[in-house]
Amino acid sequence: MADGVWADLVGQDKAIAVLSAAAEDPRAMTHAWLFTGPPGSGRSVAARAFAAALQCENGGCGHCQACRTVLAGTHSDVREVVPEGLSISVSEMRALVQIAARWPSTGNWQIVIIADADRLTEGAANALLKAVEEPSDRTVFLLCAPSDHPDDVPVTIRSRCRLVPLRTPPAPAIADVLTNRDGIDPDTATWAASVCGGHVGRARRLARDPEARTRRDQALSLPLSLHGYTEVFQAADTLIGSAEAEAAAIAGTRDAAEREALATAMGAGGTGKGVASAQRGAKAAERELERRQRSRSTRNQRDALDRALVDLAGFYRDVLAARFAAPVPPTHPDRSQDAHQAAATWTPESTLRRLEAVLACRDAIDLNVKPRIAVEAMLTVLHHG
Ligand SMILES: [Zn+2]
Repeated sequence: MADGVWADLVGQDKAIAVLSAAAEDPRAMTHAWLFTGPPGSGRSVAARAFAAALQCENGGCGHCQACRTVLAGTHSDVREVVPEGLSISVSEMRALVQIAARWPSTGNWQIVIIADADRLTEGAANALLKAVEEPSDRTVFLLCAPSDHPDDVPVTIRSRCRLVPLRTPPAPAIADVLTNRDGIDPDTATWAASVCGGHVGRARRLARDPEARTRRDQALSLPLSLHGYTEVFQAADTLIGSAEAEAAAIAGTRDAAEREALATAMGAGGTGKGVASAQRGAKAAERELERRQRSRSTRNQRDALDRALVDLAGFYRDVLAARFAAPVPPTHPDRSQDAHQAAATWTPESTLRRLEAVLACRDAIDLNVKPRIAVEAMLTVLHHG
């Protein structure tokens, strides 16, 4: 395992070498960086570690004030945007670009981390582009995106960034971190690392949260249980319902706390001049909060559903691999018996059609098709192949 600020970055020795070299030689510094890699490879973990290394006097020791505050998200010269809705807005970006232009107050650099640069609106991307084109001397932008494909990050921005590609961390490296840093028992850690698809956060959740394990089991038991249309519609209810439940669990206490904080901030009751306009202002703020909460909930539901779809796609991939005895490690080693059973029953063509139906469902939801419609269409194909 790497140490200092790099300790949480799993299986990324190459990237760590590049980043720590850059942090140690400020003359070779680039003002804009783009971290790319598959989900779970640790893009934002890498960006945060790099930010800490840049602010640290010792290249990212991991225990000084600068390192600790950056990693905790409280350093005054490091800002991180994590879009809570489906995209990052122009106004958010403008505010950020203004702050980025300031001289750092205590640190070496004024650093802005954009966790999902692929979720920038066109307007926001343009606002960012200006700042990336003419950065202040002490400003660093750290962008994260699934890939450096122009659909993810506009080529105008990408061309001004230094690329840091991250790879899918290998299972043993993930198991190692779960055991040695998170204190998870070795058996659970090894199992979680073997079924997480290289996604460290997912492995951690599966190891710790029994409900996450239940949801995974539900999704992976679908392929062999779709015997008729009754099961197809039940399965749609299960998938949609469990995504909604997961989003509701995330929203739960947080939404209520936000509503309460807003009510307190706006004050309650009162008479006399100005009360009417204050009430109108409060109503508008309330509506704005509701809009933000709805948008966040939609995104959480989609993310939860997408995790189930990725698990399903992995299963059909395993069926194909089993059918052709391909020498590749299975996505779901604990479902290997199911995969072999399906491989013995289904033709490869029908397995491929099923896999394509899962991928088409992900695309459809991405394009704002109502999840239930997309999921039912998919399950119909999963049923008859
Ligand atoms: Zn330090």
